[in-house]
Amino acid sequence: MGKKLHQKIAQFQDANMIREKGLYPFFRPIESGQDTEVIINNQRVLMFGSNSYLGLTNHPKIKEASKKAIDKYGTGCAGSRFLNGTLDIHIELENRLANYVGKEAAVLFSTGFQVNLGVLSCITGRNDYLILDEYDHASLIDGSRLSFSKVIKYAHNDMADLQRKLSILPEEAVKVIVVDGIFSMEGDIVKLPEIVKLAEEYGANIMVDDAHSLGVIGEKGSGTASHFGLTDEVDLIMSTFSKSLASLGGFIASDADTIDYLKHRARSLMFSASMTPGSVASVIAALDIIESEPERITKLWDNTNYATKLFLEEGFDIGASESPILPIYIRDNDKTFLVTNQLQREGIFVNPVVSPAVPSDSSLLRFSLMATHTFDQIDEAVEKIAKAFKDVGVTTIKEKI
Ligand code: PMP
Repeated sequence: MGKKLHQKIAQFQDANMIREKGLYPFFRPIESGQDTEVIINNQRVLMFGSNSYLGLTNHPKIKEASKKAIDKYGTGCAGSRFLNGTLDIHIELENRLANYVGKEAAVLFSTGFQVNLGVLSCITGRNDYLILDEYDHASLIDGSRLSFSKVIKYAHNDMADLQRKLSILPEEAVKVIVVDGIFSMEGDIVKLPEIVKLAEEYGANIMVDDAHSLGVIGEKGSGTASHFGLTDEVDLIMSTFSKSLASLGGFIASDADTIDYLKHRARSLMFSASMTPGSVASVIAALDIIESEPERITKLWDNTNYATKLFLEEGFDIGASESPILPIYIRDNDKTFLVTNQLQREGIFVNPVVSPAVPSDSSLLRFSLMATHTFDQIDEAVEKIAKAFKDVGVTTIKEKI
């Protein structure tokens, strides 16, 4: 019997089709740190595709803290948290995060993706329900697939649809509504107050993924629940360190019993090595900076408001965004690649988001702001994006208002 794997893989032509057109925009190697300016192909490029919302990835105090932790603890932990991989600084960071988001306890995982895989695969069982917004992050979708419970999706931020779906579920089942705080591609904020009301009415619990909200909204950047004053009403809060917190890893916070349960059931925690000392120390240092330099969040929002206003004045379709993530809709995959390519040549880095990540009539440029951008950099980007739209013949741009 012939082996079939290579035949199957040869049928995968998605990437080659874009390469043949000379437009392949993924895995672009960056030859410098992730700041508002990066070096690609020896060329200076303005970065508007980063998730480093507070611009902390090159902060001297964070780099110093990371180096010191390496000197003290070494470069890795060589084991899972469950066994030999727990350091005192893991516990220190967990306590700090629980306190920051207003929950009793927290536990660290080695990435945010692993948090969602680990938590969703074990919080509900065979006769239970996970109820997800259709635009939830891939890690939530994949986590729900690993769960033995039933998974229901409702239309994005559509509270009538959520109510319809909740209303037919059995009363005795465990039901957990799982949402992004700020949606990662669309940049809109979850309708948490309405969700909390529905959750009370139908006896559901709530989990919020704050990957894009931590350091961005809420008191001192402490996330979506805090933003709405609903911390007690949200049962589980997760986030990542790979965005505002300038590192790598993730956590989930909840009541002490739930965290203890997860520590003994979440397989992506128990069977994977713990966060490296350098990553842990950089998160602790980033939290110190968020506390001592609150002006960073203010500047992030000044930049967000400035860019939003410019894009709207220029007639761009930026959907329902209300955050530093601005989706600039093109609604055509090929044109999205052409625009991204022209912008890269002209020194602007943005991320193309095409199907299957979004429906093909929703392809977009994901433009994201950092606290460290200047208004001049934003002006330059908007001007070049407007030119690229014109050159490529994008029709979603309206007459200038
Ligand atoms: N949740 C959301 C909403 C995300 O955007 C991401 C990362 N893109 C994750 C979870 C996963 O986080 P990490 O990068 O730490 O794996």
